[in-house]
Amino acid sequence: MATVQENLLDWLRDAHAMEQQAENMLKAQAERLENYPDLKRRIEQHLEETLGQQKLLETCISRLGSSPSTLKDIGGKLMAFGQAVGGMTMSDEVVKGAMSGYVFENVEIAMYTVLTETARLAGDSETQQVCEQILPQEIAMADWLKEHLPQITAAFLQRSANPDVQAKR
Ligand code: MG
Ligand code: FE
Repeated sequence: MATVQENLLDWLRDAHAMEQQAENMLKAQAERLENYPDLKRRIEQHLEETLGQQKLLETCISRLGSSPSTLKDIGGKLMAFGQAVGGMTMSDEVVKGAMSGYVFENVEIAMYTVLTETARLAGDSETQQVCEQILPQEIAMADWLKEHLPQITAAFLQRSANPDVQAKR
């Protein structure tokens, strides 16, 4: 068994590891994109937000007397997402990357929804406030990706049909 506070701390550390993975994915995508400037810019903006989220989570975790998990602690828990985007050598990587990003943002939305309720039940109003501050950033990124997937798809398909231009990134 574990107390609400113990679960809260565990999940905050999971969230921090998730944000480190988000940082890696967003960085890799932003670095590779060449022909999709809107997507690149939005990813760079969310990368900045992600670094801020890490800091906020670190504050909560240290206030509870702990420190962030190392990737070793997390093991394979979150690695599946990294792999979905990590092997970005596919000929359609911009489309698969945007799809994976949308999936990842929704995992983040679920994580912060769970954390908000857990912090509330633990009576930790500072952590609750942090989670309520982060959640809209994840929702906004998920919404942006969903709204722009058709446009990204259309641009990819158009470039893909042209032998003279690069489509995949
Ligand atoms: Mg995040
Ligand atoms: Fe995010």
